[in-house]
Parts: sequence; structure tokens; C-alpha cells
Amino acid sequence: MALVCAPLVATTVEEMERDMAKAKSLGADLVEIRLDFLHHFQPDIDLPRLISNRPLPVLVTFRPNWEGGQYQGDDSTRFSALRSAIELGAEYVDIELKVAEKFISTISEERPENFKLIVSSHNYESTPSCEELSELVARIQAVGADIVKIATTAVDICDTARMIQVMVHCHAPMIGLVMSERGLMSRILSPKFGGYLTFGKLDAEKESAPGQPTITELLDIYNIRQIRADTKVLGLVAKPVKQSKSPILHNKCFKAAGFNGVYLPLLADDLAKFLDTYLSPDFTGFSCSLPHKVIAVGCCDEVDPIARSIGAVNTLIRRPADGKLVGYNTDYIGAISAIEDGIKGSSAKGDVVSPLNGRLIVVVGAGGAGKAVAYGAKEKGARVVVANRTYERAVNLANSVGGQALRLAELATFHPEEGMILANATSLGMYPNVDGTPIPKEALTFYNLVFDAVYAPKVTRLLREAQECGVTIVSGVEMFVRQAMGQFEHFTGMNAPESLMREIAMKYT
Ligand code: NAP
Repeated sequence: MALVCAPLVATTVEEMERDMAKAKSLGADLVEIRLDFLHHFQPDIDLPRLISNRPLPVLVTFRPNWEGGQYQGDDSTRFSALRSAIELGAEYVDIELKVAEKFISTISEERPENFKLIVSSHNYESTPSCEELSELVARIQAVGADIVKIATTAVDICDTARMIQVMVHCHAPMIGLVMSERGLMSRILSPKFGGYLTFGKLDAEKESAPGQPTITELLDIYNIRQIRADTKVLGLVAKPVKQSKSPILHNKCFKAAGFNGVYLPLLADDLAKFLDTYLSPDFTGFSCSLPHKVIAVGCCDEVDPIARSIGAVNTLIRRPADGKLVGYNTDYIGAISAIEDGIKGSSAKGDVVSPLNGRLIVVVGAGGAGKAVAYGAKEKGARVVVANRTYERAVNLANSVGGQALRLAELATFHPEEGMILANATSLGMYPNVDGTPIPKEALTFYNLVFDAVYAPKVTRLLREAQECGVTIVSGVEMFVRQAMGQFEHFTGMNAPESLMREIAMKYT
């Protein structure tokens, strides 16, 4: 089990004390007191106060600016404060590899029984090769560290794999962290790969290094206490990925279902390279979103026939029997079943034939979601019209589903028959541009049902105006929940906890 350490970067002793208490109440195992952040630090007064009243074990760090810290003074003052911290009973002290030998020569060979010296190395630009990292581990061990700490920076998410590899093979206790959003995996999976501790900040503002999750995220979203060596790794591969609610949704459902897996946001620039790097059977499945859904088709060993005809994959599963990657599209089922239920709700038709059969559906958008809705609707026997900002893309999609193409401007007057269905699959109306809408309000009266794939906000301008025109609406939250249910079933082999998913989606989207 990796410990959860809260780095404290307060500038006053009073605030530092408050933060220590807060870290304890949030569930941290220890705190890192960053002396270099304290303004007007007075070692003789402040250290005894901070250490003797500590509510949790402490790691004392006094990082100089030449190693990324705030301290600008000389080493002798720094060393003296760190020695005092040891004498006062601090459980851990961190010293930088560059001066470790010098510092160790100034402390007694007999270290206190419960004390551990962390020798650290930080690289704020990149992550070296596995050979270089292993050599660094050996140098840190040789100098006399009880715990090895190496922090590097991920330029690409694949850099993180090298740190993981070195951590797994390290015989000494090791803290191996890769900074930046692309290195987040190293922080959350620390217990899986034998890390000694991982850092969790108190809140969004109080980080000591780029990419740190909060304590609450580590404990309540990623369930870090449950992560073990055999925990399966899943996640959303996308760029950007920060805004996604899928990690909250899937992790809460994994926990409720007792599934031994953790679901991560995975900021990847190149999907093929990501999949080539994270090949191990531990990485059992991925959701895939913008901009990777189309490229994902070519990255799979096998693709479900519907996903192939849509030309987009949003779910990748590593088949346990042979390790092959199989691609699926659950957006299609999510959107179409939501629209079907919306129609059934308003016309109370039976279940034998899809209520989309024979209906005219206008799909606005020709990207991943547009394709999923257009192909799905065609499969269900609907007549499909595609409207898109880039007209050529509308024509291509319309041709592939045997439908008609429109320019966006034509939507204002397009009214060949009554009872049409409108499906917005563009990002128009999505947060933060919530005033966007693909069609003038007056034209909404031509439709019986309006569906919006956009789910943030839950009720878009399009849906609000449709409601005002008395038209039945289906929210993108329905699609979000249903595509996630399909993914959950692929990921776990279990039935999705639908009501819990709905509850989470309503709370967090
Ligand atoms: P995509 O592949 O990038 O396609 C974007 C589509 O939006 C294209 O048709 C694009 O037209 C159009 N578009 C973008 N900006 C526009 C603008 N300013 N004016 C007019 N059209 C514009 O994205 P996607 O994956 O299909 O996603 C589209 C939307 O569906 C997003 O809001 C996404 O959040 C939502 N979605 C929701 C779910 C869910 O579970 N509810 C699942 C998937 C997607 P051009 O071809 O002219 O660029």
C-alpha cells in the first residue's frame, strides 16, 4: 500500500498547522512540510512548534531553488534546519542527491529508529531512458538513502511507462513520480507498482509540483486504498481529457460492483503510440474520445462490424484469451436507444419494430457522434438526412447511409413532412459556448422529438427552445449514461448499475 502524503506549501506557520489538521481530516497518512515556502522562517521557533504538534507523521523538505524549490540561501542553514528536524523526531527528511553525501556526512551515523532519509532527484524537463533512471536509482541507493525518490516530467504519456518499469524492478523503497498531466498515471498507480508514497494536494490551488491530484480525488474517486498489484487499469484516452466525468462515473461504479479496476484520465497525443506502449495485460480496456475515435479503428486487431461501418471506435477491450484489442462503438447504442425510448414515451408504440423505423431523422453533424447516430438510425430503418457546417462531410455521410445532405442554413426551412426527429451531434451549445444552437427556434415546430448529444449543460439552448415549442426532448445525459453502461459491461463483464450511473451523471454533468 502506498502512503498518501499531503505536500504543504503554506507561507506561515499558522496556516501550515491548519493545513496539517486539514490533511489529517481528509485522510492523508503523512504531510510534507515544505520549509522553503515559509516566509520569515525561524528554525529555532517554527520547527519545534510544527513538529511537536504534528497530527500526522511528517516529511520535512527544504528545497533549494536549484532543484525547483523556493529556498535561495546557503546549504549550511538548510542542513542545520534539516538536522534539527531529525532531532525533533521528524519521521522523514528529504535531501537532494546533488548534496546528499555532504549532508549525510553532517548527521550522526546512528539515525533515530523511526527515521527515514529520502534522497531525491528532480527533472523538470523530461523523463530519461530506463537505463538512466536505473543508474540514478543505484546512485541514490549508494549514497545511503533509506528511500529513493525520483520525479521526472512527462512530455508524452508514454514517458510514464519508463518510470513504472523502473519502479517495478527497484528493490529499495521508491517514490517514482512523473510530473505534468501526462504523468498522472504514475501518481494514481503508485500502489500498484510498489511505490512507497504518492502526493495528494489539499485542494486545487495548493500543489507543490505539476500534475498532483487532490487527496480527495485519490481517496474518493480513484479509490487508491483499494489499488493493488493485480488491479486492472482502464481509462479514457483523449485530448483534452481533464473535463471528462467518465473517471468519476466508472470508478464509482467499479467500487459499487466490487470490480478490481481503476479508471484514469489518460491524456494521449498519439493513440497508436499509447497502445503500443501500454501493452501489458494489466491495461485491460479503454474508452476513446476526441480526437482518437476514428484513428482507433485502425489501431484494433478486430473491430465490431457496426463500429467498422460507423468508422469510429469509442471502446477498446484487451481480450483476455489472446491479448488482442477489440474495438466497439457504444455511442451508437447510447444515442439510438435514448431516441427510441424518447419516441416510445411520446407515442407509446410496441417494442417489436424500432420506433425509428420509417421515420425521417435529421442528423446535424458529421463527426464521430453524427456518424454513430446516422448509421444507427439507418440500421433501425429510419430515413436519414445529414446537415453539417462542412457540406462535403454531410454529403459523404449522407451517401454512406443512403440519405440526403443539407447545408446548415437549409435547416431553417427544411420541412418535407410532419413528425420529423432532430438529432444535434455537433458541439454547438456545449459549455462554455452555451448560446450556440444549430437551428432557429421557429423551425423546431417541424419536429416531434429533438435529441441533443451535448450533455454539458444538461439542458442546452436547443432543448430549452424545443421544450418551449412543445416538442419532446431527449438530453445528451441519456446518451452519456447509456454509452457508459455499454462500456462498463465490456470492461467488467457485469451488468451496469444503471440507477447509480444515472444518479452520478445527474450529479456531476
Ligand atoms: P467531432 O467528431 O469533432 O465532430 C464535431 C461536429 O460538430 C462536426 O460535425 C463539426 O462540423 C460540428 N461543429 C463543430 N463546431 C461547430 C460550429 N461552431 N458550428 C457548426 N458545427 C460545428 O465531435 P463528436 O465526437 O462528433 O462530438 C460532437 C458532440 O457530441 C460534442 O459536443 C460531444 O460532447 C457530444 N458527444 C456526446 C456524447 C454523449 O455521450 N452524450 C458522446 C459523444 C459525443 P464540421 O464537420 O464542419 O467541423
